[in-house]
Amino acid sequence: QEAAREILERVESREDNRLGVEAMGLLEAYGIPMPDSDIVDSPEDALEVAKRIEGDVVMKIVSPDILHKSDIGGVKVGVSDDEVEDAYEDLITRARNYQPDANLLGVQLQEMADLDSGTETIVGMNRDPQFGPLMMFGLGGIFVEILEDTTFRVAPVSESEAREMTEEIKTAPLLRGARGRDPADVDGIVETIQRLSQLVADFPAIMEFDINPLVATPDGVDAVDIRLTVD
Ligand code: ADP
Ligand code: MG
Repeated sequence: QEAAREILERVESREDNRLGVEAMGLLEAYGIPMPDSDIVDSPEDALEVAKRIEGDVVMKIVSPDILHKSDIGGVKVGVSDDEVEDAYEDLITRARNYQPDANLLGVQLQEMADLDSGTETIVGMNRDPQFGPLMMFGLGGIFVEILEDTTFRVAPVSESEAREMTEEIKTAPLLRGARGRDPADVDGIVETIQRLSQLVADFPAIMEFDINPLVATPDGVDAVDIRLTVD
């Protein structure tokens, strides 16, 4: 809670009210699992972090002005240690080309989530003027707009409500292990919905919050990307 408050206070002190992966400490404070991640501001530091992280890494531009990172080529998946320094420079160049005056906070390096055995889901919250905070769950990643497979509950959500959410989307069979795949960690999803519900209850200034994707594998869940808006 204290750590979360500090992150949100830093937001209030700048004119910008949108946040991205630089705020992933909020997840940590609420026990929502995420891959090993770090934000750096030089190619040398990027290499150092990449060496520390197991296997190849994902690299992402970190800027409150670029919240749809893939749209500008701002996400690189499967980067090996030899490629890290060039990838860093390339991400910064792309961001500068896209918006010369963008506020660049650095580059995030992240452990790879297992997308082969995992499903990209989305867990979100939107404050509705009438109903208050609405929790959302659905299929995530790049398909979220196309399939519109989402479901909503008024927060705070109980465990059984969160579980219903995971069962009632059209693509629920994917999570249960369609086509010989192992079932995803639905308990992990249920817990994440409840923890995010608690987070936004504790901080009414948060108007919107998306974890997209929350990668759900048979072994657990990993929040790999977030964005939020603070009033
Ligand atoms: P954005 O939504 O801003 O474009 P994301 O961080 O969500 O950026 O990354 C886009 C996509 O890249 C994700 O939907 C996912 O498919 C992939 N990706 C991102 N981070 C990871 C990761 N740590 N491991 C595996 N795949 C990832
Ligand atoms: Mg995303």
